[in-house]
This record gives sequence, structure tokens and C-alpha cells, in this order.
Amino acid sequence: MQSRQVIVVGGGLVGTLTALLLAKQGDSIHLVEKKPFIPPIKSAAFDLRVSAFSAQSQKLLALAGVWDCLPKNRVCAYQRLQTWERGSQKLCFDSADLELDALGYIVENRWIQAVLWQALQALPNVTFYEGRQVSHINNSDSAVSVDLDNGQQIKAQLLVACDGGNSTVRQLLNIPVTAWDYRQHCMLVNIKTDSVEQNITWQEFRETGPCAFLPLAENNASLVWYHSPQKIRQLSGLSNSQLKEVVIAEFPALPFDFTVEDKGAFPLIRRHAQTYFKGSCVLLGDAAHTINPLAGQGVNLGFKDAECLVNLLQSSPDLPMSILLKRYECKRKPANLLMQSAMDLFYKGSKCELDSVRWLRKGVLHLAQNSGAVKNRVMKYAMGL
Ligand SMILES: Cc1cc2nc3c(=O)[nH]c(=O)nc-3n(C[C@H](O)[C@H](O)[C@H](O)COP(=O)(O)OP(=O)(O)OC[C@H]3O[C@@H](n4cnc5c(N)ncnc54)[C@H](O)[C@@H]3O)c2cc1C
Repeated sequence: MQSRQVIVVGGGLVGTLTALLLAKQGDSIHLVEKKPFIPPIKSAAFDLRVSAFSAQSQKLLALAGVWDCLPKNRVCAYQRLQTWERGSQKLCFDSADLELDALGYIVENRWIQAVLWQALQALPNVTFYEGRQVSHINNSDSAVSVDLDNGQQIKAQLLVACDGGNSTVRQLLNIPVTAWDYRQHCMLVNIKTDSVEQNITWQEFRETGPCAFLPLAENNASLVWYHSPQKIRQLSGLSNSQLKEVVIAEFPALPFDFTVEDKGAFPLIRRHAQTYFKGSCVLLGDAAHTINPLAGQGVNLGFKDAECLVNLLQSSPDLPMSILLKRYECKRKPANLLMQSAMDLFYKGSKCELDSVRWLRKGVLHLAQNSGAVKNRVMKYAMGL
């Protein structure tokens, strides 16, 4: 098979993983990333942007040869997951019931990106265009060429757009999106605790939005607080010590003392591209879909996009690109839509205060907690197993 020329736009989590998997298959990769890569430092404080990586995503990173490159003191495995509505029964999952070592892993996004980026740097068939953006795309069913903002031109058989939720490539291709603003913001608060590393992640649903706890390596953790944009703006204006007092007063009880180390806020927007490809260009990750982060599925869906596209390219090297990209869209679009819709149903259902819906919620949680094998099967699906 002849090696393909592939342009990957966006060197975030999904772009670097896709580039690495394709480069390992022998394709020549042109990686365009608008920000220069700065390797993180092992002793630095934890970054606010962390993600829960499913067991399937962890396997994919291991397959790409980078999982073991992560520093041990930046990876936190969790064995237990609990979710409940304020004042009602808890739905509990345990990795032991699924005969797994862990339900998932919480890692800073920048460390995952770093090990993928460094693996790419070691390959001879990857060319980097750091600090560069695409300004023009010439696209047909058989070839694509892009002009960068410094006037450089790259030609290829395929362009993979992994340039995030506000994808420039998607806009240059005039691919429409279905989108809405959840009218909720999400506050991330990094804390240092006075207890040892936790092995549990939990989420409490409230009428104002969920509150979640994500353990980080050693005695660090991330609190995730969904609320109205006004409330999050107010919280963002507090000092770290003032914020600690509000967390103690208003957040679900934490069984340890802590200090607030860092905080930041993000708006929540749902987007779904109406088509995943045009000519020889294809959308992956947040460029194709952004999802309510309440169940931590965003990166995991993007990794599944990457795995699906790479497998199709590998298994059908002689298929015309238009047919191959159509197959990719047929596999990934319904799966991503299903997860987006399930999260929205869950999110809207958790905020509805009608008595009938409240009773239904309690009944569903009770049934789910006592459903044994069904509960574990649903968990395995969410984990991508
Ligand atoms: C508050 C919050 C919490 C979340 N928690 C989780 C979680 O626990 N688990 C989970 O799975 N997901 C989570 N997500 C979602 C997750 O962060 C995203 O799905 C994921 O980062 C998407 O990766 P990506 O590579 O597609 O896009 P991005 O991470 O946005 O990367 C895009 C890359 O493209 C580059 N770029 C942008 N424009 C251009 C351009 N024009 N030219 C070149 N390069 C460009 C950017 O610099 C960036 O490097 C969360 C999201 C939020 C907002």
C-alpha cells in the first residue's frame, strides 16, 4: 500500500492521537497546530483541565504506546463511582463487580497531549506546523490542499479536522452545526486535601445543576460545579479562601479539610456538525460534536472517532475516500448523537422539579441500584467495553 499524505489540523488530544495512529501505519502526517507545544513539568501544580478517561480510551493510549509514558504522579485510577440526587438513594458502581482494576483514570489533558506529541516527535514521517493556522482550503473528492497563514501550502489525500468546538476547518468548509447553549456554566476548582489519594468519583444532582468530585493523583482533587452563568461569575470573583468557605457551605460535604489551589469557569454549549465530511476533509472530536461534560464523555467519544477512522483507513486502503468517509460518518454520527441525547435527557431530567418527574427519577435510581447485571452492563457500555 502506498503511504498517504494526511493533514491533521489541531494538535489537541484527538488530533495528536489520530496523527500518531496514522503515522504508525506509515502515513505521512502534516500536523498543523495554532499554539506552540510547551512540555508540562512533573512538579508543576495540577492544571484545571482534567478528563476522566474510560478503560477503552486507556487501552487505545496503551496501544499507541504512550500510556506508560505518563508520569505516575499525574495519573489517578478510580475504582468507585457514585451518583445520586440530593436527598435520595445512591447509585454505586465498583470496578470489582466488573472484574476490572479501575473504572477509569483522571489525568490532566495537557499530560495526555504531551506524551502523544512527544511520541510524534520521534517519528520521521511527521512534519509539524506549530503556531500556524489554516487560512484557505481547496477541497475535492480526490485531493485537498490548504494554505497556512504564513503562505505555505500543503497538499494531501485527506484532511482530518481536530481543531475543537469552534473548528475553523468546519467553518471554512461551510458545514452547518446544530447547536444550543445550555445556559449553564461549569466551574472547575482544584483543591489539595489533607487526606491520602481518593479512589472514588461522585456526582450529586441538584435542581441548579450537578456537583462532582474527581480525584487527582496524590492528595489533589477537582471539584466540578454546574450552576447559572450569574452564580458562576459570582464564584469566579471570590478569592481562593472565600471560595473555600462557599464550597463548605453550599457544595456537597467533603470528608476532609482542603485548600483551594486554582479555579476557572467554562460555558456549556452543545454542538453537532450536520455532516462529518466534505470532499476529502473529515471532522473528529469536538470539531464534530461537543457534549455536556456531566458524564465525562467528550474526549472518550473523540478517541472512538479516531479509532474508527484509522481502522477504516487501514482495513480498506483502496476504497475511494468518499465511500470510506461516508462509512466513518455512518458509524460515528449515530453513536455520538445517542450519547449527546442521553446526556441531555439525564441533564434535563435531573433539573425538572415536577413531582411526577421527581418520583420517576427516584424510582429509576432505585431500580438501577438494584438491577445487578443490568447496572453493570450499562456501566460497561459507558466505559466503551
Ligand atoms: C469543563 C469541561 C470538562 C470536561 N471533562 C471531560 C471529561 O472528564 N472527560 C472527557 O472525556 N471529556 C471532558 N470534556 C470534554 C473534552 O475536554 C473535549 O471533548 C476534548 O478536549 C476535545 O478534544 P479535541 O482534541 O477534539 O479538541 P480540543 O481539546 O479543543 O483541541 C483542539 C486543538 O486544536 C487547536 N486549534 C484550534 N483551532 C485551530 C486552528 N484554526 N488551526 C490549528 N489548530 C487549531 C487548539 O489549539 C487545540 O490544541 C470536558 C470539557 C469541559 C468544557
